Amino acid sequence: MPLELVFLGSGTSAGVPMIGCRCAVCTSADPRDNRTRPSVLIRYPGAGSSGPASETTRSLLIDTTPDMRVQMIRHDIDRIDGVLYTHAHADHILGIDDLRRFNATMQTHVDIHADERTLRVLREMFRYIFEPHNNVSQTFVATLVAHTLRAGEPLNLFGAKWTPVPLIHGKLPSLGFRIDADDASIAYCTDVSQFPEEAYPLLQDLDVLVIDALRYHPHPTHLTVEEALRQIALIQPRRAYLTHIAHDILHADLQARLPENVFIAHDGMIVRCE
Ligand SMILES: [Zn+2]
Ligand SMILES: [Zn+2]
Ligand SMILES: [Zn+2]
Repeated sequence: MPLELVFLGSGTSAGVPMIGCRCAVCTSADPRDNRTRPSVLIRYPGAGSSGPASETTRSLLIDTTPDMRVQMIRHDIDRIDGVLYTHAHADHILGIDDLRRFNATMQTHVDIHADERTLRVLREMFRYIFEPHNNVSQTFVATLVAHTLRAGEPLNLFGAKWTPVPLIHGKLPSLGFRIDADDASIAYCTDVSQFPEEAYPLLQDLDVLVIDALRYHPHPTHLTVEEALRQIALIQPRRAYLTHIAHDILHADLQARLPENVFIAHDGMIVRCE
């Protein structure tokens, strides 16, 4: 099995359709215009494993969105070998409770990886998870083990090299991730408005780049479609996929106008690198 990326969610923070909107995209009959909040699953064969594929394939989740339950059920996912967080915005973290189900299905804790800033917010927002001894009743909360990431410092997860890539998201930092497994490489850069100089050397020679392309007109914390295409031209991955899509973009309309190696992601899309 090759290195694989599953788009669990490809939409912006409000999702598409948005609550209370009757625009052409929010009422589109094309299932690709139905987008849950942004998250991907990265799958690859774990190092040193020799059992049947289902036991050896490792599944790493990037972000836990408010739509996480639906996303896990839709793809029949019953194991998560770790979670990596890009940043602590609500659309990327609010599904954290659903990790409890993996404590139950896997009978173990779940490792989560995030930078110090994101971990601080998670610990503040979800005290009942991180300080369970203070809970009034002994309810079932997720058992998570937190690990601190630093931009530019790679870690090895089950034989794949994961490099946190520093990104600028408006006035805040966020993390992208580059994953190298065997000879394949994927980078996931959602929630970015600017690439700092240090990011570019980490994004060389990519098979696949996934990049934020919120909408057509400028936004203070996200790239537009035009800005994303400019970054793709600079970074030169073999293929690129646009994500974190808002209701301004009709899937079929934009796809018809993109360069031949650039695609707009949709929920359920699976990208394979061999
Ligand atoms: Zn977001
Ligand atoms: Zn709309
Ligand atoms: Zn964000």
